Amino acid sequence: MSLFQAVEMAPRDPILGLNEQFAADTNPNKVNLGVGVYYDDNGKLPLLECVQKAEKLMMEAPKARGYLPIDGIAAYDSAVKSLVFGADSEPVKSGRVATVQALGGTGGLKIGADFLRKVRPDAKVLISDPSWENHRALFSQAGFTVEAYPYYVAARRGIDFDGMLTALNMAPQGTVVVLHACCHNPTGYDLTPAQWDQVIAATKARQLVPFLDMAYQGFGQGIQEDGAVIGKFVASGQDFFVSTSFSKSFSLYGERVGGLSVLCGTKDEAARVLSQLKIVIRTNYSNPPIHGGTVVATVLNTPELRTLWEKELAGMRVRIKQMRTALVEKLKTAGVQQDMSFITQQVGMFSYSGLAKEQMVRLREEFGVYGTDTGRMCVAALNSKNIDYVCQSIAKVL
Ligand code: PMP
Repeated sequence: MSLFQAVEMAPRDPILGLNEQFAADTNPNKVNLGVGVYYDDNGKLPLLECVQKAEKLMMEAPKARGYLPIDGIAAYDSAVKSLVFGADSEPVKSGRVATVQALGGTGGLKIGADFLRKVRPDAKVLISDPSWENHRALFSQAGFTVEAYPYYVAARRGIDFDGMLTALNMAPQGTVVVLHACCHNPTGYDLTPAQWDQVIAATKARQLVPFLDMAYQGFGQGIQEDGAVIGKFVASGQDFFVSTSFSKSFSLYGERVGGLSVLCGTKDEAARVLSQLKIVIRTNYSNPPIHGGTVVATVLNTPELRTLWEKELAGMRVRIKQMRTALVEKLKTAGVQQDMSFITQQVGMFSYSGLAKEQMVRLREEFGVYGTDTGRMCVAALNSKNIDYVCQSIAKVL
């Protein structure tokens, strides 16, 4: 008998599986709104100018490639810390943040999950309902029982804030609560600052462990605005986790650049936490790769490139907002009677369109317009050439 005879076929990744289906589709008008990737108005994946300039600087001074330290490039880690907490913030100045370079935002989440599993083996993890597909899988694989707190309510097209708060207030002490810092994936609905205050009060009162997933800093309202929630958590006096991703904000998806920051009570505590994070990394992949981290560190730490990045990021953010406005207008023009203005209230890459599974399947099969079965569409993949076709297709299935 073969060693692997009993191995079952795992289900396809729901989103990446959609990509394969899209690639095989022969419809010449096909549009991929499935995966969370930003495309420019020509439908191309951007290669940011700040990235190209940083790479040019790197080419001009070529370096040999030794191993990086386990926690990554020091200049990168400190740039992440400054971006997330503020360069002059008290946590950064007092040295009580432990930051490591990670393989994308996913890597940051997994390092955090593995570390938490060691220090809080009995804790449960709460994620939003719905959430990014990988949250449940990732924390389950790390050994946790994962449950969900209410977040989106379809009937009202918005956040079930009372439900969310009730769930947090009932969670046992020590429960890990995964929160989307901005640009909630998949719904596009973010908490208001006043709602964040209530969430923060609840996690503090119940002694929960906040884990902020910040995969879209700068894609919502702006770099500072999106990061403001971190300042609120700091001000509350809680210790917490933040995972960072530069996949979208630098359009560096395949370089796997991200990080994990853990705010600790003291500098000494941060040193001990860092030593544990390093064990997680060392036993998984030893140390991170050089290229992507060097690009991001060069951009963030070179004032001229940093300014350019902020401008390019603002360009992506503004284009997404324009697509949202255009979507609402063009759906009306295409004959859609219902009020679709909720699309402009959502932020970030995604829109929960409110379309049912059957409608999403029809969009795919009859029109070659690909979104997820849950009705999620990536508005960052719309452009001036495909938006009319998308709107006409949606009008036909509504
Ligand atoms: N968290 C959320 C909410 C995401 O949407 C994503 C990316 N789709 C990630 C984490 C992972 O980011 P990365 O690709 O950098 O691993």
